[in-house]
Amino acid sequence: MPTAFAMADPLTSPPRVELPASAPETLLRGLRGRCPRCGEAGLFRKWLKPVDTCPNCAQDWSVQQADDFPAYIGIFVVGHLLAPVVIMMISTFGMSAWLTLAIILPVSVVMLIAMLQPVKGAVIGMLWWWGVGAFKQERRKVEPTEEP
Ligand SMILES: [Zn+2]
Repeated sequence: MPTAFAMADPLTSPPRVELPASAPETLLRGLRGRCPRCGEAGLFRKWLKPVDTCPNCAQDWSVQQADDFPAYIGIFVVGHLLAPVVIMMISTFGMSAWLTLAIILPVSVVMLIAMLQPVKGAVIGMLWWWGVGAFKQERRKVEPTEEP
């Protein structure tokens, strides 16, 4: 259990918000649909609509500018996962192109829809972590180590 808590400004945010320690932790919080800053509250109020303000840490998420980037990532990942499957279906199993299309098209749509929200959460988390756009970059305060 980490003991380092950020010293939050009481005027702008409530105390005891545990900022993520690293970019991967921020990414995981976003992937899980949790607030990347505090990890406590949900990030989305609808499927792809983030909350305006985190109810736990008061982070303003209305300024995020993920735009189309989550969809680009989703298409890139789904395409690379399914390309070898398409090649195998046609070359190894000798399926026709139309049968392959009839199977692959719904599978790819379902995969893309399933990964859009987690990827958008991760993108928003990374935008926040790196202070992109209107986000203010925040880092955990490092506790000074005690010398024996
Ligand atoms: Zn929060």
